[in-house]
Amino acid sequence: MSTALTHLECSKCGARHDADIEQHLCSCGGPLLARYDLKRARVLLNASVLAQRPADLWRFRELLPVRDGQNVISLGERTTPIVPLSDGLLVKDESPLPTGSFKARGAAIGIARARELGVRDIALPTNGNAGAAWAAYAARAGMRAHVAIPAAAPSIHVRECTELGAEVRVVDGTIADAGKLVARWVASDGYYDASTLKEPYRIEGKKTLGFEIAEQFEWHLPDIVVYPTGGGVGLIGIHKAFEELRALGFMSNRTPRFVAVQSTGCAPLVRAWNERRTESVLWENPNTVAYGISVPKAIGDFIVLRILRETGGTAIAIPDDAIDEARRRIARGAGLLLCPEGAAAAAAADELRKSGWIHDGERVLMINTGSALKCL
Ligand SMILES: *Cc1c(COP(=O)(O)O)cnc(C)c1O
Repeated sequence: MSTALTHLECSKCGARHDADIEQHLCSCGGPLLARYDLKRARVLLNASVLAQRPADLWRFRELLPVRDGQNVISLGERTTPIVPLSDGLLVKDESPLPTGSFKARGAAIGIARARELGVRDIALPTNGNAGAAWAAYAARAGMRAHVAIPAAAPSIHVRECTELGAEVRVVDGTIADAGKLVARWVASDGYYDASTLKEPYRIEGKKTLGFEIAEQFEWHLPDIVVYPTGGGVGLIGIHKAFEELRALGFMSNRTPRFVAVQSTGCAPLVRAWNERRTESVLWENPNTVAYGISVPKAIGDFIVLRILRETGGTAIAIPDDAIDEARRRIARGAGLLLCPEGAAAAAAADELRKSGWIHDGERVLMINTGSALKCL
């Protein structure tokens, strides 16, 4: 596969870890990030090499963590389209991916690498889409998924995970409570903990979103990326992709300002941003139609907040009625039915334009993270 993967590095204390054995968090509690020999990748990967490769997730294989091509698993994921709206907003539409959300990216690479490391059973808490994606790719890889899902999450996800052969447990409480159950499973049954950022490779899958954006923008990045943020993996992944491609010499302009969008019903990152904190505080009693971004306390919160600071970005919370309004307006006006999380991003872009934070003529890209059809 010619991966340039060298080691894992703690995002908190910088400690170095072996990438070729199963790893979860650093002993200091920090999530681990995959690191590559970027000098070597620079020799192997350039625009003319890319032009000859199929439009799939593995186009950027030098910067992905799988060593042996036999461990690659695919459900036919392809480059997703960028759809412009009449007001100039550009929508990277992730709904055509397998299992109907961009969670497929994290699961495709995460499961491939877990298989390479000899894993048989994976476990994770989910508000729905991650569970479905990991269940699907686990089934494809001959592995078993164990999923804990809050009772308030849309019930279609329970059916979806069950159909895909996962063991599904419905939990009274939030995703944080589901996470506690998964921690017990991991301790008692030895399952591979695939919770957000508790293994290093989901981020690497989400990175493919950043690779695609860079390539679709012909290496001249948009001015602003608006991202509906729950655990923040997608935002961290897109940013990591841009930085790695920059080190390879692909980029011709500055890194975009990142905008983290949450719902006013669950906005721990927005509150931390407004209070100029470097970490968030647990959000009590989350309540929003945008389940995918209903995460009371993200383990990678400090990384998200660091990226917002470093790129001159911001964080903004959108009420559910504005999410519904944006969704209806874009569905009827543009024929594009956004998921609630995507609609939150669209509403945020609108609000930031009105407030003057987004200037006329700036190129703004938002991510529609999944299919609307699961939430109707
Ligand atoms: C998981 C999810 C998100 C949030 O993704 P993170 O990378 O965890 O911030 C947003 N939208 C949808 C539809 C999701 O399923």
